[in-house]
Amino acid sequence: MFKRVLIANRGEIALRIMRACRELGVETVCVYSQADKDAPYLRLADRAICIGPGPAKESYLNISRLIAAAEVADVEAIHPGYGFLSERPDFSQACRDCGIEFIGPSPEAMSKLGDKVECKRTARDNGVPVFPGSDGAIEEEEEAVKVAAKIGYPVIIKASAGGGGRGMKVCHNELALRSNLRIASQEAQAAFGNGAVFIEKYLEFARHVEIQCLGDKHGNAVHLFERDCSLQRRHQKVIEEAPSPNIDRRKLEKVAESAAKMIRSAKYAGAATCEFLLDDKGDFYMLEVNTRVQVEHPVTELITGVDIVKMSILIAAGEKIGFRQSDVKISGHAIECRINAEDPAHGFRPSAGKINTYETPGGPGVRLDSHVVPGYVVPPNYDSMIGKLIVHAETRDAALDRMSRALREFKVEPIKTTIPLHQRLVDDAAFRKGGVDIKYLERLLK
Ligand code: ADP
Repeated sequence: MFKRVLIANRGEIALRIMRACRELGVETVCVYSQADKDAPYLRLADRAICIGPGPAKESYLNISRLIAAAEVADVEAIHPGYGFLSERPDFSQACRDCGIEFIGPSPEAMSKLGDKVECKRTARDNGVPVFPGSDGAIEEEEEAVKVAAKIGYPVIIKASAGGGGRGMKVCHNELALRSNLRIASQEAQAAFGNGAVFIEKYLEFARHVEIQCLGDKHGNAVHLFERDCSLQRRHQKVIEEAPSPNIDRRKLEKVAESAAKMIRSAKYAGAATCEFLLDDKGDFYMLEVNTRVQVEHPVTELITGVDIVKMSILIAAGEKIGFRQSDVKISGHAIECRINAEDPAHGFRPSAGKINTYETPGGPGVRLDSHVVPGYVVPPNYDSMIGKLIVHAETRDAALDRMSRALREFKVEPIKTTIPLHQRLVDDAAFRKGGVDIKYLERLLK
């Protein structure tokens, strides 16, 4: 096992990784920007190192500063968390070049699954269902028109190197497709430095279901079943749960097994998530693979009893997964609400500032992953998430009731948060019924 690990992240995920390290007997080095210099979780690290000013480009996204901190602190490994540099093959490569273990996939495995065109090919080879669409990147306009005529409109143009929901264009007819192709490619070139685009069938009705996978360095891979993340706003997940309500379990398990097979075939070590959209017939189509730990990993931890963050560290240290697929069982139901410092009553505008009152929920089946304490000042520089409230109960209904109860206990003042929105959602009749689509929340908020 590693003696010392550097955490190249901030906020709740930095604290989450620190907790896992502590339980494994691993020392932690936490980096921070000047905007986070008073963050209370830094005191829990064995060592904290300032890596630059507030803007992420000059700190959490600065590879050379992170590597310098890792060398100064003499760590054996770096955990990237999520966001920031977590999905950058050049960061994984920089760690390798400096003899530091990257807690995540190799640059090769990350590139193979991170590039959408290449990932789709790997998926198809392993029996993972993908959207009908172009075979690879589009070379000629006529080719795109032909493919679209075959699969039927609407279609969506996507960038092979895309991310963050950017650079996608939905086309309802041939004229729109023709006029958008070149624009999409130019935008992709400007945004991602790679102009390759492809097209696939666009689903008007879709649910979001993703499969959590783990691979190790010994050629083993398992899945930890699914999470349902259909409640979204602007492609950002708002509530996640596991298992997925109203779903064909036989179909799901088949897809989950092929996802694990794909992870194995990519020689992938670490935690990975295969994201899928489901159509109104319950058929799965793979969207993409996230090559890192996800924000919503706790719901899977609660229903399977597997500590995904600890596993990612153990796997990087060369350990085997240590259990078989048949050992993974689902117990009960878990739900996560992302608590953001935003004002849902005013267009979700960010609400940074000092938190004077911070009263947290507790009791049976309640988990709060948050770096906030009373007096904490939410900096305006980063993502607005200040924590995740997660509950676990025997059934979905009991979990919803528990979440409703926990949200009522949660007081964060005077900044505005998404707590009132969550309170409304967990009591919403359609959501309680289960199986809402990814546009449900935006329709509800209109
Ligand atoms: P990114 O990597 O930019 O996040 P994704 O491929 O994950 O891109 O897609 C982001 C979101 O766009 C999805 O969560 C979904 O809401 C929507 N989307 C993407 N592809 C399709 C599709 N074929 N049909 C319907 N919606 C889609």
